[in-house]
Amino acid sequence: MAESGFLQLCSDRRFHRAVMAAFEQETGLRPQDYYIEARPGGAPIFADKTKAARLAYGDGATHMGWMAHGDVCRGFQGESDAELRRRLARTVEKRARDFPDATHYGIFALDGQIEIQRYHG
Ligand SMILES: [Zn+2]
Repeated sequence: MAESGFLQLCSDRRFHRAVMAAFEQETGLRPQDYYIEARPGGAPIFADKTKAARLAYGDGATHMGWMAHGDVCRGFQGESDAELRRRLARTVEKRARDFPDATHYGIFALDGQIEIQRYHG
């Protein structure tokens, strides 16, 4: 069966397109191979695993990306880049436990730069 995935990201217009492209490059997934879910704040804004994530995982998602960014996120007004990075790291740990059969990626974006780290639990 083809690989599939899920990507949860911030809605911010500065980042969404570039983050999707970077996720595709890292995983080898095509746009039609993965679900997305976006809200201001990105992955750390969701307190629990979402319906979209559960559906994707139920469909066999093998790559799951969790994104946040610095340079001011309107989902987390007033927080520093370091605080946002810590939120993302905690989120990736939680979701890796929620969805143990997938490979997980923490994706942190800054203006002009996207870092992807494969999670090793
Ligand atoms: Zn944001």
